[in-house]
Amino acid sequence: MKTKISLLLAVGLFCLSAISSGSKAATQESAKDAPADLILTNGRVWLGGDSSSFAEAVAISGRSIVRVGKTAEIKQLIGERTRVIDLGGKLAAPGFNDAHIHFLGGALGLGEIDLTETKNVAEMIERIAAYARKNPDKQWITGRGWEYTPFPGGLPTKSYLDAIIKDRPIFLSAYDGHSGWANSKALELAGITRETKFDGYGEIVRDAAGEPTGALKEGAQRLVRRLIPEPSRERKLEALRQGMKLAASLGITSIQNASGSPEELSLYDELLKRGELTMRVSVAFSVGPRTTPQDIARFAALKSQYDFNSQNQTMLRADSVKFLLDGVIESHTAAVIERYSDLPPNHGAPFGELALPADIYRDLVVKLDKAGFQIYTHAIGDRAVREALNAYENALNANKRLNARHRIEHIEVVSPEDIPRFAKLGVMASMEPIHADPGTTDVWSKAVGAERLKFAFAWQSLLKSGARLVYSSDWPAAISVDPIRGLHSAVNRRTVDGKPPRGWVAEQRVSIGDALRAYTQAGAYSSFEEGIKGRIAPGMLADIVVFSQDLFKIDPMRIHETRVTLTVFDGKVIYQDGVKF
Ligand SMILES: [Zn+2]
Repeated sequence: MKTKISLLLAVGLFCLSAISSGSKAATQESAKDAPADLILTNGRVWLGGDSSSFAEAVAISGRSIVRVGKTAEIKQLIGERTRVIDLGGKLAAPGFNDAHIHFLGGALGLGEIDLTETKNVAEMIERIAAYARKNPDKQWITGRGWEYTPFPGGLPTKSYLDAIIKDRPIFLSAYDGHSGWANSKALELAGITRETKFDGYGEIVRDAAGEPTGALKEGAQRLVRRLIPEPSRERKLEALRQGMKLAASLGITSIQNASGSPEELSLYDELLKRGELTMRVSVAFSVGPRTTPQDIARFAALKSQYDFNSQNQTMLRADSVKFLLDGVIESHTAAVIERYSDLPPNHGAPFGELALPADIYRDLVVKLDKAGFQIYTHAIGDRAVREALNAYENALNANKRLNARHRIEHIEVVSPEDIPRFAKLGVMASMEPIHADPGTTDVWSKAVGAERLKFAFAWQSLLKSGARLVYSSDWPAAISVDPIRGLHSAVNRRTVDGKPPRGWVAEQRVSIGDALRAYTQAGAYSSFEEGIKGRIAPGMLADIVVFSQDLFKIDPMRIHETRVTLTVFDGKVIYQDGVKF
């Protein structure tokens, strides 16, 4: 209860401060008194939020935006030490908020094999072989990014890898992280044979003769993954620094780190204390059936250290938890209401399955909701989405906690009758436009079938129903972390080379304004920070991105060609025209 009151108070205070500093009298007063530190002029500044209006210039003092308006007016704030950047008519917007990302995993992966957007198996093998040649000392050859579509039957096999490397183990994750691809050496080290049984959530895939094929689904990946040496803390910090440089170059100024751990939080904390953190981070702790009351107590203690009242609340937060409720469509592990369309009649699990029993999940949701956590639930199939909505509804009835802003992650298929429940229950729809890139959806579409396809990644239906839609990349479980690629998918539902010509389930497209809102203001709302970021207005934190072309004016099929030319974070320029800071 205490948490709830302090949380509401904090939200209230943010709103008040935004309103008071936003009033004209207050800003004009301070305008005369204090020159700004940084001024952006002659731009087309999209203010974001619910507004569809634009300004020309922005003045920033310290960490905050102090004034927004016409260039001539803002220029009055130029003092001796003011840095002025002329935007030359370019579009500016609030910094991107990637609301679901596995940043550490993505950052560590930057030094591994990257199979994203390989068109066929031969191209994958070429990249793997090249990497192995370049890294002769690497004991394990690891990487990620393969897609299901290029493989006959939708899954890779060890034979492709054995043909190039026999003496070193290889383990490669699918682009979504839900399946793995191992060579014979890796299987041998893991002790995976014909006889190996796996009872957990997932599968050791076997051929007709019972021989493991090298494909591992979901939890079965752990059998191999646990053997890969854990990188040192220093290596992780270094990877995060590298990742933050990439994020800065893409205009990402805030992230919600889905599936975090106390250890991950401590890495961000170290970067924060060293003054190196160039993104606002909120960490969701992973929870599941093995979560103990002691774990919850530990997360709650960390939450009270990293919540709204903490000193660094705008930089680092940890007041949410994340469940994994099902798998993915492509490997038939997502939980669906009607059987998968492409499975033979005698298939053993034609509906996929929940990653944990519904009653255990529901009880944990009530407990965590009562403890004041915001809850994320990964639910991809329509059955899992329904269970998540049921659990949130049940918690609302039990604890009467309003404004909990619980979220469902991914929602790739949804039953039309569940769509209105999002708005009704105040549950956020947290989705990745890049996952609907038609270049990756062949296997997906076959598994789902024509009927359910109408509600594939149903962004438009959800928006129309009044649901709050928030966008993210899910990197590295995505073909790209670049928000621009996400915007391209959201607006076009076509690949960058225009396929299919009319768009994939085109009625679920959204406008560029809605897509940008889902990548900015909605992200801020999803971490209870809409009063301090996600829009360009006096009193808001100064996180701003500038683009090479005007996303509102160009042909939507050219969105993917857009580059970020300037990123301002916390009032400072952290990236400019190819120069990384
Ligand atoms: Zn994820």
